[in-house]
Amino acid sequence: MDYLPIFVDIRDRLVVVIGGGAVAARKTEHLLKAHARVRVVAPELDTTLCVYRDLGRIEHRPLLFSPAQLEGAQLIVAATDDDAVNAAVAQAARERGIWVNVVDDAARSAFIFPAIVDRSPVIVAVGTAGNSPTLARRVRTQIEALLPERLGQLADFAGRWRARVQAALPALPQRLKFWDSFFNGPVASQLIAGRNAGADEAMQQRLEMERATPDSKRGEVYLIGAGPGDPDLLTLRAQQLLQQADVLLHDRLVPEAILARARRDAERINVGKVPGRQDVTQDYINRMLVEYARRGLRVARVKGGDPFVFGRGGEELAVLREAGIPVVVVPGITAATGAAASAGLPLTHRGLSQSVTFVTATGADTSLLDWKALARPNQTVVFYMGGAQIDLIASRLMELGLPATHPAAIVERATWPDERVLPTTVGQMSAMARQEPLRSPALLVVGEVAALALPSQIGAHHVADARVAGELDLHVRAGG
Ligand code: SAH
Repeated sequence: MDYLPIFVDIRDRLVVVIGGGAVAARKTEHLLKAHARVRVVAPELDTTLCVYRDLGRIEHRPLLFSPAQLEGAQLIVAATDDDAVNAAVAQAARERGIWVNVVDDAARSAFIFPAIVDRSPVIVAVGTAGNSPTLARRVRTQIEALLPERLGQLADFAGRWRARVQAALPALPQRLKFWDSFFNGPVASQLIAGRNAGADEAMQQRLEMERATPDSKRGEVYLIGAGPGDPDLLTLRAQQLLQQADVLLHDRLVPEAILARARRDAERINVGKVPGRQDVTQDYINRMLVEYARRGLRVARVKGGDPFVFGRGGEELAVLREAGIPVVVVPGITAATGAAASAGLPLTHRGLSQSVTFVTATGADTSLLDWKALARPNQTVVFYMGGAQIDLIASRLMELGLPATHPAAIVERATWPDERVLPTTVGQMSAMARQEPLRSPALLVVGEVAALALPSQIGAHHVADARVAGELDLHVRAGG
């Protein structure tokens, strides 16, 4: 480490800035944000600095530099465009034992300014020991994207509670665990979302619960939507909680690349359907969730897509609430929106489709559907389904009046590396599904917008499909 990163309390202390141009102004702004007293020594000031002077926020000495101007300074910044002056400032500062920064000159500087991400009171400082300020700024931008906008409010809240938590939980390990689970828990999510109402009451409750179970045997469950498959479509919160969890209960559809983002020592349990083995029942999963949480573990229930879209997340949430176990729900990109994005198929589109319906068409559920409503034009219906249902869907829709030429698209393994988009029609989709044959998971999109899907990897069928797609195009233009 070439430099020691420290945060300096400069409030009401004197900083002398030599130079009156744009660079000096930028440094002055930073110093003022940290509530320093700033003296600017320069014969002339740029506009920003003039404003600060007129507002009385800085002391201006309209003079050329002389060491006498450094009197009383705690820090010094040399920001002139004259190398000789900067050198003289640096030397005078060092002789007096005062910390000096010469802008863009690490060799002459006793300290350098880092690039910062400001979520006050949380501040992240990035430095490259003067090697590349541009690189520091790039790193800053990346971190900027990672940190929630309201992180500062969260820190303020934690600061207000710090003493009370310390008094309530004197044992350090228990306190650490409490804070850890606080920052990943529902109260913190609310604060980060900007909803402060009730946060204090919720915090009080949590603290009392924690005190009532001194062993800190309070687990919690994260119901995480892992998205349609591509690991880059995970939300930031999903990643944070995957890192936090002690145990993962995941579905079969969640790819290895996503599970790999969990902690290495986290236990993984596949509760998805495994062909040839007896399925793990939903009831059994519910009981596992409660059981693990009661052992004090942080349990990540990782589901494909979104937990609340045909994911039985609602049932799990109800069971956990009933058992009094804290739950955080993390939304995921559902298969329909993932497929729509990668097929270039908008789910609603002016003039083509005014609404979108997500339907599950697995086995017994299909008799409950309002097929008449699903067979209307100018809408989009996305069927989450087993491939076997496609015949039934096609015949029901046509019986109820959709023309055989009505556009449809099958999207297999959306956002996976081997994704396939098959544009088709209601009349042809059964035959297409048999010919291909479909690989799971697959979605069926029915509606005028399906004609906009960009076919991918259609292999031997691409000539026939291109012709169909062309016809669809005309059909859509005529219809829309
Ligand atoms: N909760 C999930 C859906 C679970 S139901 C979500 O929000 O996406 C499972 C069905 O979702 C599958 O049968 C299939 O129809 C659909 N599905 C899930 N992932 C898919 C993917 N990557 N591509 C296409 N369909 C997918």
